[in-house]
Amino acid sequence: RRAEFAKLRDTPAFTRDGAKITLLMNAGLDVDLDILAETGAEGIGLFRTEFQFMVAEEMPRFNAQTALYGRVMDAAGDMAVTFRTLDLGGDKVLPYLEAEREDNPALGWRAIRMGLDRPALLRLQLRALIAAARGRPLRIMFPLVANVDEFRAARALVDHEIAWAQRRGRAAPSRLEVGAMIEAPSLIWHLDALLPMTDFVSVGTNDLMQYLFAADRGNPRVADRYDFLSPPALRALQQIQQACAETGTPVSVCGEMAGRPLEAFVLVALGFERLSMPPAGLGPVKQMVLSCDREAARRGVSALIKSSAGSIRNEIETLARKTSV
Ligand code: PEP
Ligand code: MG
Repeated sequence: RRAEFAKLRDTPAFTRDGAKITLLMNAGLDVDLDILAETGAEGIGLFRTEFQFMVAEEMPRFNAQTALYGRVMDAAGDMAVTFRTLDLGGDKVLPYLEAEREDNPALGWRAIRMGLDRPALLRLQLRALIAAARGRPLRIMFPLVANVDEFRAARALVDHEIAWAQRRGRAAPSRLEVGAMIEAPSLIWHLDALLPMTDFVSVGTNDLMQYLFAADRGNPRVADRYDFLSPPALRALQQIQQACAETGTPVSVCGEMAGRPLEAFVLVALGFERLSMPPAGLGPVKQMVLSCDREAARRGVSALIKSSAGSIRNEIETLARKTSV
């Protein structure tokens, strides 16, 4: 299988009926950069910047952050990289960063909440990203935005840091795009407000599903009770895709489900055209895309989504088998 996938590396991912699907890689450490070219990914759709912090014994300083971001951009060359700002806190506690133990870490003081309450850390990171970009394009994405005011405030910090760099005569990014992750269900009902102020969004299905089903993603006793291939999960994703299509906002899916062929099949059927996934998913998902008839998949999934069943996995499996070559 591996050799089969390797042969597909340079084949662009078109469905049989001609839809271009952009396949991207999730990354977070230097070691991921070595395999970027090998996977045939068209870019890095999610760079998890907190990994550098989690493997370090002390807080990575400005220079270390800038150096890593520079290496990522060098490795990606002309391909786009989406840097997600620190998604720390909750259960990602660091010995060198004070944080209180919380009873509900997934619902607690984490990600952008921590970034906005402790802006010094977030601003230093933004400054490092801007310094690393130096005349190159820069894409920044904020994790776990739950309300549009958080996005406004975070975006204002970016503008502030760009102005700071410019006053010092530093090269600004050649192009700046700022986006939000859709992980908190609340945003689904405020996309009309969010989308006009973002340059792009990315759906973090790991967290989005955890919050939709009220099931801790890290607890196997409850995490596996609910199927992503179920009407409520897919209707939520469909709403997001449709809202983005209406405003012309670029949207990707970057949760683990994007890297599983059957789940990716459904995402393509729903109209998502950018999928970012762990490296091992790229070969199998590309093979699925190449054999998929998107229009037939779309018709099938729109019918199945109306089902009264708790899971429609088997039906979707049958649909995928019937509509793919
Ligand atoms: C997600 O929640 O789907 C996501 C991509 O972010 P993480 O897995 O890092 O929380
Ligand atoms: Mg997440």
